[in-house]
Amino acid sequence: MIEFPCKWCNSVFLDRDELEDHAKEVHNKVPVYPCKKCNEVIRGTMNFDKHLTLVHGTTHWDIHLAIREMKRQFKEMMS
Ligand SMILES: [Zn+2]
Ligand SMILES: [Zn+2]
Repeated sequence: MIEFPCKWCNSVFLDRDELEDHAKEVHNKVPVYPCKKCNEVIRGTMNFDKHLTLVHGTTHWDIHLAIREMKRQFKEMMS
């Protein structure tokens, strides 16, 4: 199961849209997702999907890597 941790507090979500809503409402921030393909950092899941489609001609293939990276950064921040 993929979990979506909030970078700014200890909340963890099972849905990235929930995380995004949470980040906007509670922290007034938008989660960012690094694109492994071109190292661009994209703000928001909608824009991430758009970036994949427009720039790389695909959808969702990298979201798991992005989430893993987010988790890694999250752990580093917490340690
Ligand atoms: Zn939070
Ligand atoms: Zn890219």
